[in-house]
Amino acid sequence: MGANKTPKSGLKSARIPGRPHCLPRAYGLAEELTRSCGDYVPFCSQSIGSGIIRVHSRDSRAALPEKTVISARNAYVRGVRPASINLYDLTRAQLGELLVGWELKPVHVPLLWNYLYLGLADSLDAMPKLPPKLRARLKVHTHFGVLPTAFETDSNDGFTRKYLLALADGEKIETVLMRFTGRVTACISSQVGCAMGCVFCATGQMGYTRHLTAGEIVAQAVHVARALKFQSHHFPPPPSNPQPPAASPPRRFHLISENDTRLRNIVLMGMGEPLHNYDAVMHAIEIMRDETGLALGAERITLSTVGVVPGILRLAKEKRPLHLAVSLHAATQAERAALVPAAKKWPLDELMAACRTYSETTGRRIFYEWTLIEGKNDSIEHARAVGRLLHGLPAQVNLIPLNPTAGYTGAPTRTDAAKNFQHILSEEFKIPSTVRQRRGIDIAAGCGQLAVADRR
Ligand code: SF4
Repeated sequence: MGANKTPKSGLKSARIPGRPHCLPRAYGLAEELTRSCGDYVPFCSQSIGSGIIRVHSRDSRAALPEKTVISARNAYVRGVRPASINLYDLTRAQLGELLVGWELKPVHVPLLWNYLYLGLADSLDAMPKLPPKLRARLKVHTHFGVLPTAFETDSNDGFTRKYLLALADGEKIETVLMRFTGRVTACISSQVGCAMGCVFCATGQMGYTRHLTAGEIVAQAVHVARALKFQSHHFPPPPSNPQPPAASPPRRFHLISENDTRLRNIVLMGMGEPLHNYDAVMHAIEIMRDETGLALGAERITLSTVGVVPGILRLAKEKRPLHLAVSLHAATQAERAALVPAAKKWPLDELMAACRTYSETTGRRIFYEWTLIEGKNDSIEHARAVGRLLHGLPAQVNLIPLNPTAGYTGAPTRTDAAKNFQHILSEEFKIPSTVRQRRGIDIAAGCGQLAVADRR
């Protein structure tokens, strides 16, 4: 370890000789440094690449407002105490590196991984077979980034459950568990709030607070998987009539069959714009895809973007294995910019060029989402405009009748008008489309309805 220095800012820092390439080495360096820098108590760390970790301060935000980046390349560390590693932040390979850094055998990784993602253990007490040395290290240096439930609520039809989850810094996010026959899907968040400001979206109306870490994204999937695994016996049997009248008393969330006790799909359509938080989202997807863990493979993860062009092009370049959904909502730049302010930054022609590149590069079809707002974008002319826009592209259109939010006065398109819209797409343009089932609207768990009113 090199000599410690005190920079002008008053924060302690130290020069690290050598080139610590691997994550545990970086954590180890942070730990050693902290013995001489006792001012700050970080609450979580996020790996963002080889030899780089980020440390966020919990109780010293005023003193350390910036994320501190510990980089092997610039070889400086600003004064922090050793970060407790959120186990949900680590891929299986990184867990192995961590153990090697502790001079323990990576042979224990499969056991630990199984406990985390198959057993869905949420504490060391639930991992009885761990070797004592590993247990001791984990106890001191890591934590389970489990997200406690602040509130949960079930929809009247019993098919949707919404969780309000508490983050370590006091912020809250929403996660939704949706039940369709043979399909159990978690809709998870990527940010606290959202900076994109779509006018009809409750998350956009609350503004942006911060990105979620990869561990916080993974923890939502784990939360839902745990509910399915451990609480399913509390769920009553399915209703004989799956569409009870609105006046019937609220049902509790239910499962339709034994096969539905496992999380099958993830949609990144909760709070936030996933491509605005690209690195953390992709890191989380890598963890959730691991076939020896949650095993949510390429066909099981859908990422929805409002149209962040650089993110779409990066997805294309990196050929990320996932489904891409692009929120379109309008087929002209002026109409789209009125609904989606982000369109001013990434105009429609640039967006469509990026989508074309994505489809050509990956060979994948894109799902285009169209929120149907009565009198705004639901006419026959609008249907023809989107048909012309998507002509020749591998596309499917998801039509989503507007869900109500406090900050927007528009009304959802009527069922017959939605069917007419769909008819034009299929008959005149041969573009497949679906009209999204309206589930969970009574608990504000539908598309565009997620928001946290009480954030403290
Ligand atoms: S629709 Fe998506 S991108 Fe737009 S404000 Fe809501 S969360 Fe953000």
